[in-house]
Amino acid sequence: MTKITSYLEASQGKTLFSIEIIPPMKGQHLGDLMSHIEPLMEFKPPFIEVTYHREEYIEKVVDGVSKRIPIRKRPGTLGICASIMQKFHVDAVPHVICGGFTKEETEDFLIDLHYLGIENALILRGDQEKGEDQFIPKPGGHAYANELVEQVKAMNQGILLHEETESLPTNFCIGVAAYPEKHFEAVSMEEDLRYLKQKVDAGADYIVTQMFFDNQKYFDFVAKCREMDIHVPIIPGLKPLATARQLEILPEIFHLEIPEILAKEVRACTNNAAIKQVGIEWAIQQGKELIQAQVPALHFYTMSKSDSVRAIAEKLF
Ligand code: FAD
Repeated sequence: MTKITSYLEASQGKTLFSIEIIPPMKGQHLGDLMSHIEPLMEFKPPFIEVTYHREEYIEKVVDGVSKRIPIRKRPGTLGICASIMQKFHVDAVPHVICGGFTKEETEDFLIDLHYLGIENALILRGDQEKGEDQFIPKPGGHAYANELVEQVKAMNQGILLHEETESLPTNFCIGVAAYPEKHFEAVSMEEDLRYLKQKVDAGADYIVTQMFFDNQKYFDFVAKCREMDIHVPIIPGLKPLATARQLEILPEIFHLEIPEILAKEVRACTNNAAIKQVGIEWAIQQGKELIQAQVPALHFYTMSKSDSVRAIAEKLF
């Protein structure tokens, strides 16, 4: 297994192609996900990121008593990572979140990753529990991603949470998330960047950004990071628009802006196929400019659908 930073160094300025996938809903066939990944393998992604989904709670009456039951709707991140590595011989990068985990549970999860030979992990706080209005860590868990980065870094130095003797060190390459349009909870970009720097100083080796539709936002963000002495690679995240509804839900969920010119083009479309094509063309233009700027990789949020990303990759890679 190879570290993401080694892939980026070896590429010598050539922009790499990478993707993020999400596990299927519980009870769905893994084969469907694999068949979406397969057509993208032609573009040789050196790594595939796999998201992690925290539990949600449902109310259920059991034996006449109402109970709050934790349900994970998209389990299987670890198993999918193992399957991807076995089937496609590429590095799988699991997302590791703070939400819903104690530090001890996280330690065990990281040991599982280590035993599987996984050497990269994207370290995240995760969002608040559904129905909550703010993120609340599990008692004994981490409140922010920088704390989880510190835990991974300590394991890389052979330090476990409670063992008195030094253990064999892990060797994780650590990625973290960043937001060219600011994380929605941060009061200012400056504050958000200070916390990003804290994650990098704690040991993050690379950054992956939230999706954006205006490259200037990414370029400005990278410039601000460099001014803040954040010098690790910053991989831009891209998502091709595919439906008219996304004009509303993407800004709502991800707190980003969709350029009016793109929104106008989408609104002028009379059917879904035309909207998809607009999304593909826009992402191709974004990709061309980013490649010209020698970004480390174009990282596509596939939502486990390959057709649009394939059409884009055919033009760019
Ligand atoms: P943090 O870096 O902890 O930041 C969260 C907020 O707190 C920010 O506003 C920051 O400015 C502030 N902050 C940071 N550190 C501190 C501190 N020490 N003290 C006070 N304030 C602080 N979510 C999932 O559940 N599963 C996934 O697989 C997943 N994958 C993602 C992949 C990418 C590339 C991105 C960009 C996001 C992903 N998310 C995922 C969503 C992510 O979990 C949310 O955006 C979450 O709200 C923030 O996570 P973070 O790691 O950026 O948090």
